[in-house]
Amino acid sequence: MLRRRALLLAGLPVHAWAQAYAGPLFDAHLHYNDDAQALHPPADVLGRMARAGVRGALVNSRPNDGTLRLVSEPGPQWVPFIRLYRDRADYTGWFADDSIRLMVLELLKRGSPAGPFRGLGEFHLYDSANADGPTAIALMRLARERGLTVLAHVDDVAVDKLLGHAPGTSLIWAHTGISGEPLPRVRELLAKHQGLRGELSYRAGITFDGKLGDDWRALMTQHPGRFLIGSDTWVPQRLQHYEGLFAEYRGWLGQLPSEVAQRIAWRNAAELFALQAA
Ligand SMILES: [Zn+2]
Repeated sequence: MLRRRALLLAGLPVHAWAQAYAGPLFDAHLHYNDDAQALHPPADVLGRMARAGVRGALVNSRPNDGTLRLVSEPGPQWVPFIRLYRDRADYTGWFADDSIRLMVLELLKRGSPAGPFRGLGEFHLYDSANADGPTAIALMRLARERGLTVLAHVDDVAVDKLLGHAPGTSLIWAHTGISGEPLPRVRELLAKHQGLRGELSYRAGITFDGKLGDDWRALMTQHPGRFLIGSDTWVPQRLQHYEGLFAEYRGWLGQLPSEVAQRIAWRNAAELFALQAA
C-alpha cells in the first residue's frame, strides 16, 4: 500500500500533494507607515494577522509613531524596532546624519508600549560604500553593545562591511539580497557571520510555479536556523494582500521537512527574540 502510494506520488510535482504548513507564523518585516495608518486602523491589521495565522511581528514604521500605535494593541507578540526614518528624505542620508543616532538613543531610553525596542531598521543602503558612513558605523556598534538586532535592506558587500564594523552583531538581511545575490554567496556570508539571518520577502527564485527550488531547499535544510519570513508592507497595498502573502509562504514551507518549516515560520524568531510559545 505504501509502495503504491509512493509510486502514485512519484508522478506528481511535489507541490501538488505537499500539505501547506499549518502552524504559527512570525512576520519579521512588518511596516505600519503613515500612509497605511489611515487606510488600515490597528484593528484591521490585527484582523489580517489573525486570519493569516501570524502570531507575532517585528514592527518598524516611518515615522516611529506607527510602531508605537500598533504595538499598544494586545494580541500578537510584538517585537518593536526603531526605524531610522522620520520621513522619506532620511532614506538617502541617514548613514551620515548624527541626528538619527540621537533619535535612536532617545527612543531606546523611552521604549515602547510593548517593552524595550529590540532592534534598529529597516534601513536601506543603495550604495554599499555608505556602509562606511559614520552613523552607520556608530549604529552597528550601538546595536552590538545593547544586544539589538539590525534589519538591513542592503547588498552582499554592505552586509560584509556592516558586520565588519561590529562583528557578531545580530543582523537580519532583508530580502536575503534584493538584487538576487547568488546562493553560493549567501551561503558564504552565512558561514562567515554567525549572527546573520536572511528574511525572504521579495527574494526572487525561491519558488517556480509554487514549487520550492531544489537549491533553496538544500540551503534551508543546511541552515534551518538562519531564515525568517516577512510581509514587507512598505506600501498599503501589501497589507491588502497580507493573507495571500502568507498563504504563499505556507505553500512552500509545506514542501520542507516539518522541523525546518517550523523553524523558518516561527521558532527562529521565537529564539532570537525570546518569544512565548505560540
Ligand atoms: Zn521593508
